Amino acid sequence: MRSIHVDTGVADALAAFEMPQRLGFGVLMAPVMYRCQYQDGRWWDAELMPYGPLQIDPAAKVLHYAQEIFEGLKAYRVDRDRAALFRPQMNWERMNLSARRLCMPDIPRDIFMQAVQTVTAYCEDFIPRNSGQSLYLRPFMFGTQPDLSVAAANSYSFLVIASPSEVYHSGSMRVLVERNDSRAAVGGTGAEKVGGNYAASLQSVQATLAKGFDQTLWLHPSDRRHIEELSGMNFFAVMEGELHTPALSGSILPGVTRDSLIQLARALDITVHERPMDIDDLLALIKSGTCTEAFACGTATIVSPISVLGDADGQVYELPDTPGPVARQLRQALLDIQEGRGSDRFDWMSPIPPECYP
Ligand SMILES: *Cc1c(COP(=O)(O)O)cnc(C)c1O
Repeated sequence: MRSIHVDTGVADALAAFEMPQRLGFGVLMAPVMYRCQYQDGRWWDAELMPYGPLQIDPAAKVLHYAQEIFEGLKAYRVDRDRAALFRPQMNWERMNLSARRLCMPDIPRDIFMQAVQTVTAYCEDFIPRNSGQSLYLRPFMFGTQPDLSVAAANSYSFLVIASPSEVYHSGSMRVLVERNDSRAAVGGTGAEKVGGNYAASLQSVQATLAKGFDQTLWLHPSDRRHIEELSGMNFFAVMEGELHTPALSGSILPGVTRDSLIQLARALDITVHERPMDIDDLLALIKSGTCTEAFACGTATIVSPISVLGDADGQVYELPDTPGPVARQLRQALLDIQEGRGSDRFDWMSPIPPECYP
């Protein structure tokens, strides 16, 4: 394994950390973080350090031109003695697709794995152990070169922070169809995990909340007809017992949870259709009772049932079954693997190597 410098403050930071009663999602930060910096064409030594503020040059490119990417994955310790990560290889591969899209250097596999494994190992005692709880890991990278010229930076920081968390938004959601704004563009960065995509979504999200809904449902940016996804979750609907999800369009983020649910559904003999999904067709199928369930999925939320779809014209379309049987079955099957109850038939769980522990 690559060597890692453990800061002298780490032991004190771990000893001083206290777990509160209520966790929320992504609010409480674990007491340590990982950092590796890229400069002069290479990655330098990695550090594990107490969680805390970063020093950043005010001219750093990320602060002006948004050269930033991130990932999200979880370490589980429910019904397990030792922590295990869920499909970290997928996050590493996707992070490098995002990096290439923003002209950033690839993160070598050993650096990415060392980062998520070491933070998980040091925080193992802080991984909550009730069903639905986990350590949410947030790898991210940004351009640090202090220079206002518009070009890719020549220096970067890659960090991993972590948050002991509950499931994100565990209730059922009211979702509003967005007919005007776009989250992503054709030829843009919708398929990559880029902070700027979220910035572009905020205006719609704010309006959605003000109208009494929980999430925006985005349509394809050029045809404004085909369903894409929610701001940070992929979309599924159930019709006559079969599962339908929008085919990846180039502006949809290819979710690890989406991929996992598709594989699980097929293994459970549920027919899966990845296809373009017209929003007006879907709303009509909800109205006629053919579409009985809709749900969203992502690492943070796992599976989040949708109870209502609202349209821009004020019409609301209620889903009868929330959470419906397919959503419940898939959520349980996925959690059983993540939380160590079911057999890991796809080899998705990745244990932490012993050498990562303090
Ligand atoms: C992260 C993300 C998802 C969900 O991906 P997972 O890998 O399942 O967590 C979906 N949509 C967007 C826009 C995202 O950023």
